[in-house]
Amino acid sequence: MLTLEEARRNVIEHIGNKISSRAIVGVSVWDALGLVLMEEVKTDREYPPFDRSTRDGYVVRAKEVAPGAKLKCVGEIKAGDTVSEPLARATCMQIMTGAAIPPGADAIVMIEHTQREGGVVRFERAVQAGQNIVPRGSEAAAGQTLLRPGMRLGYAELALAAQVGAVELECAKRPRVAILSTGDEVVPVEEAPGPFQIRNSNSVSLAAQVRIAGGEPVVLGNAADRVEDLGEKIERGLKEDALVLSGGVSMGKYDLVEKVLKVMGAEFYFDAVAIRPGKPAVFGICQGKPVFGLPGNPVSTMVTFELFVAPAIDLLGGAEARALPLTEARLGEALNEKPGLTHFLPAQVEWHGRTPEVKALKWQGSGDIAALANANCFLVVPADRDKIAVGERVSVLLRKDVV
Ligand code: AMP
Ligand code: MG
Repeated sequence: MLTLEEARRNVIEHIGNKISSRAIVGVSVWDALGLVLMEEVKTDREYPPFDRSTRDGYVVRAKEVAPGAKLKCVGEIKAGDTVSEPLARATCMQIMTGAAIPPGADAIVMIEHTQREGGVVRFERAVQAGQNIVPRGSEAAAGQTLLRPGMRLGYAELALAAQVGAVELECAKRPRVAILSTGDEVVPVEEAPGPFQIRNSNSVSLAAQVRIAGGEPVVLGNAADRVEDLGEKIERGLKEDALVLSGGVSMGKYDLVEKVLKVMGAEFYFDAVAIRPGKPAVFGICQGKPVFGLPGNPVSTMVTFELFVAPAIDLLGGAEARALPLTEARLGEALNEKPGLTHFLPAQVEWHGRTPEVKALKWQGSGDIAALANANCFLVVPADRDKIAVGERVSVLLRKDVV
């Protein structure tokens, strides 16, 4: 049985070696959120393109301003105004945030530090040369690379591309991830389950997780716990870039996923990880495609997806495998877990004042989706710890979709 870190490294190594070149598409900057960039984006000019005021106030020669000094105000400069005339000696001009600095001027005095007396401005304090000005080219030189292949495009990256006029971006196509649930008891979510059946909620959570991770879900429905049905649907799934199964990987007589995959030529790199929930998680490569067999208990499926499938989607999509969204918090309520496995407990982290504080929520184990729906993180209890006292520092795995 691998540790959590070994299992993640294993996924990253095996998929990293397998990646074929990604199909690339041109995407409008309005539609590229979450995609992986496949080109360099460079500046079209210097940034800022002119010496820019960062305040509303008066533009001056710094050496002419002292407490009590008065300067004649000879006009105003708005953001967007063309500026070419130098500032005449012993004068100032009113200037707005985002406007260009005229030649000869070297500082902006905030309006709050001045008094207007008709055509004259009285200054309350001195100002340093350069104050409240962002010099031309100080954010980026002309032709400088700002974004690189492999970067995932979030709102800041998209704004940066837009700023330099890159309105169409070469991006990797989203990897297509087949989702197949298994189990004789599982019915489609649109249908009414019989008294001993359950709805296929795993396909819903997995489709959402695939999307958030940057993939395109291809939902294949459910396979019965029978070799033929599993075989057919797995074969369909192997047409996509990766296949994620839920259920059928434990020790039960009808847990047939590994057996069927093996017959189809899968090579397995692990089939157990020292975590709870999620211990029976399986990872392998079958007919050249990464395959994940995630345990069927809903919270196990969700946790193992975040730990193992999300980084795989990064790699398949041309990005680096993301780090786990871990942070540290102060434990708010004592814990007592069995040692030997790394535990992930649905928990709520709250930021009061300086230190985040985390409390595990009451739950009935890995079938309890309601507990997770009230959680914004998992509290991570390391395999070598059992009792943890209030106030100790613990690791927290954030649910990035809700925090
Ligand atoms: P398994 O991993 O197949 O042994 O399933 C473990 C538990 O998860 C059982 O209680 C199943 O009924 C439940 N389960 C399996 N598949 C799903 C699914 N697609 N949606 C919701 N629960 C499931
Ligand atoms: Mg099952």
